[in-house]
Amino acid sequence: MSLAEQMDTVTDDAAGTVDRHDTSQTFESTDPATGAVVGVFPVHDADAVAETVQRARAAAEAWGALGFEGRKQKLAAYRGYLARRMHELADLVHRENGKPHADAILEITLAVDHLAWAAGHARKALGPRRVNPGLIAANHAAYLEYQPLGVIGVIGPWNYPVFTPMGSIAYALAAGNAVVFKPSEHTPAIGAWLAAAWRAAVPEVADAFQVVTGFGDTGAALCRVPVDKIAFTGSAPTGKKVMATCAETLTPVLMELGGKDAMIVDDDADVVAAADAAVWGAMSNAGQTCIGIERVYATSAVYDRFVAEVTEQVRKLRPGADDEATYGPMTMASQIDVVKRHVQDAATAGARVVTGGPDADAFPGEGYVAPTVLLDVPEDSSAVKEETFGPTLTITRVRDAEEALQRANDTTYGLAGSIFSASKDKAMDLARRMRSGMTSINSVLTFASVPALPFGGVGDSGFGRIHGEDGLKEFTRAKAITRQRMPLPVNLMSFGRPEKAADALARVMGMLHGRHR
Ligand code: NDP
Repeated sequence: MSLAEQMDTVTDDAAGTVDRHDTSQTFESTDPATGAVVGVFPVHDADAVAETVQRARAAAEAWGALGFEGRKQKLAAYRGYLARRMHELADLVHRENGKPHADAILEITLAVDHLAWAAGHARKALGPRRVNPGLIAANHAAYLEYQPLGVIGVIGPWNYPVFTPMGSIAYALAAGNAVVFKPSEHTPAIGAWLAAAWRAAVPEVADAFQVVTGFGDTGAALCRVPVDKIAFTGSAPTGKKVMATCAETLTPVLMELGGKDAMIVDDDADVVAAADAAVWGAMSNAGQTCIGIERVYATSAVYDRFVAEVTEQVRKLRPGADDEATYGPMTMASQIDVVKRHVQDAATAGARVVTGGPDADAFPGEGYVAPTVLLDVPEDSSAVKEETFGPTLTITRVRDAEEALQRANDTTYGLAGSIFSASKDKAMDLARRMRSGMTSINSVLTFASVPALPFGGVGDSGFGRIHGEDGLKEFTRAKAITRQRMPLPVNLMSFGRPEKAADALARVMGMLHGRHR
């Protein structure tokens, strides 16, 4: 099926999409549950990518010239289009990524909410403002504004194929940039749909958001064009390659990478709520969530009750492709080998398997992994150290919350995490000291649904922020302007200044600052 035909089946008025290039090579995307072909897409080569970026660069001028209010209206039309076609897009997400339709609806809802927030807050976060010029430049007015960078290349993963790239796309567009998006080779139809929807919703600025499809080479070509910034979301090893490629052209990068997030369950926690959140955080989306919970550290006081509750809840889960299934197949078949290796390593090292495990039962074929809960996994095991990215959870008994925090922080990653405690002050203190970009107290993943909060990690989880005012600023350059309002009798920055001016200045500085010791 050609891309145009594919898009026709997706939506009638979203037709006219990525493939305006003469590209002889194509690739198929398939339904991970059935293997059925979802669509056929061009492998865009370096020339095709350069041509797309060139069109985006031309569009960026018109897009930037619309100003905050004009862009807000276009972005509203786009989000209206997405909101009216939620089920259609969710169906495509279900077919190409494998997650249940209801989870796809939740993902799209979050993306639409972020679009609204970014468009609505861009002027306040980025618009021109006067700042205090200070003593030395008291006769000047000082202005600050955040200007768009130009064209942003967005390289996205397959696990949240709408929400994750939209965290960059919405904020980059709202800040006045054009965007060229390279979706994962596993979810090109969703990327193409998003761009086709843009063309249909706001045809007058169609080239401000375009898609290129292909494999890693297409992504690398986007880095090399160059664009004005690359917003990359994916694994740490690929992130390193992207940075190396971007270094060739001094292209700045935003890195949203993987994680190994932990939950701390303290003595006074609501154990049932903590178990419910841990199971959702670990197993939803088949565990293929960068901010998913992969490790739990529960204090001795609650450990037994917590394990019992998790065990009961996990037994109710059933992976499958039907509407009643709690989660779908692994999107990428090769990830099953990683999950198997981690579970096998843990079992060999003496971990107790509560559900799932290394046996055939846990890997029933057809791309599914059964929910797997492991106890007493040694801390140096791959199941504790590396990103598993499957429906697995390790639960470890600790003395107290301090030990839990120390173990939670003992990782090279630092994306997010969760704390369950009835004490607000203690939970806030633990959250602040958790080495991660984001922490939810008495819930999981909530920060991702608050558009005003920045999203991003530390260490091997990357740097830079999407979402919130920081996410808008990420796609801009600060511009500083001063304007002299009146000349001073003595101009210190002139060769014509009187000889004694420096002494007078030193005296004033001594009076103002000299008393501080
Ligand atoms: P990958 O790192 O494999 O790929 C990410 C993207 O990079 C894909 O579009 C891929 O294209 C592209 N790519 C691959 N090689 C290159 C290259 N040399 N130059 C430029 N682009 C390239 O990640 P996954 O798609 O497997 O996503 C899962 C990972 O993403 C997990 O580690 C997860 O934790 C992380 N993630 C992080 C999030 C965050 O916000 N911090 C959110 C969601 C996921 P192709 O697929 O065609 O190879």
